[in-house]
Amino acid sequence: MSAAPGKAQRGHELHQLGVAALAQRLAAREVSSVEVTQHFLARIEAQQNLGAFLALDAEVSLAQAHAADARLAAGERAPLLGVPLAHKDVFVTRDFPTTAGSKMLANYRSPFDATVVSNLAAAGTVTLGKLNCDEFAMGSANENSAYSPVRNPWDISRVPGGSSGGSAAAVAAGLVPAATGTDTGGSIRQPASLCGITGIKPTYGRCSRYGMVAFASSLDQAGPMAASALDCALLLSSMAGPDPDRDSTSLDLPVVDYATNLIAACARSDWASGLKGLRIGLPKQFFGAGCAADVLAAVRAALAEFERLGAELVEVDLPLTELSIPVYYVIAPAEASSNLSRFDGVRYGHRAASYSNLNDMYRNSRSEGFGDEVTRRIMIGTYVLSHGYYDAYYLKAQKIRRLIAEDFQKAFTQCDIIAGPVSPTVAWKLGEKSGDPVASYLADIYTLSSSLAGLPGMSLPAGFGAHRMPVGLQLIGNYFQEAQLLGAAHRFQLATDWHLRTPEAAA
Ligand code: GLN
Repeated sequence: MSAAPGKAQRGHELHQLGVAALAQRLAAREVSSVEVTQHFLARIEAQQNLGAFLALDAEVSLAQAHAADARLAAGERAPLLGVPLAHKDVFVTRDFPTTAGSKMLANYRSPFDATVVSNLAAAGTVTLGKLNCDEFAMGSANENSAYSPVRNPWDISRVPGGSSGGSAAAVAAGLVPAATGTDTGGSIRQPASLCGITGIKPTYGRCSRYGMVAFASSLDQAGPMAASALDCALLLSSMAGPDPDRDSTSLDLPVVDYATNLIAACARSDWASGLKGLRIGLPKQFFGAGCAADVLAAVRAALAEFERLGAELVEVDLPLTELSIPVYYVIAPAEASSNLSRFDGVRYGHRAASYSNLNDMYRNSRSEGFGDEVTRRIMIGTYVLSHGYYDAYYLKAQKIRRLIAEDFQKAFTQCDIIAGPVSPTVAWKLGEKSGDPVASYLADIYTLSSSLAGLPGMSLPAGFGAHRMPVGLQLIGNYFQEAQLLGAAHRFQLATDWHLRTPEAAA
């Protein structure tokens, strides 16, 4: 492994504290939410070269910070009260425009907030703005945004990953202490991995999808992105929860206080051996020739640390892993083609200025509004759903999806958590794969299968690989086991400092 970069450890400046420490300082009234918000807004302003933000409104953010300060002054204490963060631009927000990274929604303002946004607002967080992403969350490099690419703060000639690339870059560069993301086939885990931060995609249904601009409804899930597992736990407790009136697929399960659980578990005197008895399954398909040697070396070293902490490593089999790519790239476009049909210039979205009749108006509006990747997926999706092809492609994909989910259940009889790489390589150069959609799709190999199964998964910093770029370790849990994933990750982070490394941009 190359010498460890990012020796700049997190210091004591406001942007280096992370959510948990920042919240403590706010609660102790050592600093006000307005001061913290101003600090981050100034950093965002100074680092616009990253392209991480699509919308800012200092007046709105500061008004929210004043309101949080008033609650703190009145003696109220809540885990996130006064903490600023930013939302991926697929969550609709009343106070900021929402574009989903698309020209189709340029200047769109939602009349309501997404449930995740309103849950976090009720917890007292301050919104710093909206974060850049791939158009309608379709992509793995954030180069499909209609507005601008996002740059990786570890090396601005490289991509941050996608589709939550703005979220990952902003957290890594210390422009926000935390951000929301969405993950349909890896869009929280992969950019977290490529930018050296922590992110978790909970079990499908844990967070309400209400107000998330839909990509593939049976896969879309919201989750937090932050420096550490503890910070993610704090956020997830506020984001998650049933939303029966607005999202019938949201799970009817009580909200777990993930952070308090973590702190309690790790306060026990035996925390150092606290992973004793935890069986970590390593799917042989995740450690094959398809993964770059530098990534494998970092992942294996992280797994050795888990072993030192008491975990047991066992080999498991996920034989259909390779099929997750064709299956996902049939199902996700199929659902996308249906979800995106509403953007026709009449019901929603951009309307072309010139047209000669109704069909022409639809065609011009959609051609002008959608970018190439979105158009490609609408065409694939429409094709696989069409009469005569439905059984051959869509139905077949659904059947294999079921088998993939069953393979995970078999693996979970032998282990508690599954681990492996997140991405087969470190972050690549801007433009390197942009002309080759299949090369991009192949890079999703380690994240798609658990998404298809609806399982929770996370990425945590595990070291560095080629070009001194960050490498993430993926942990996949069984349904509803977010607390277990966060617990294992937190113990790892108590024993290691990969999550404390920051790029020069965050100094
Ligand atoms: N990279 C995958 C895709 O392009 C996943 C995207 C996502 O999770 N939103 O579809």
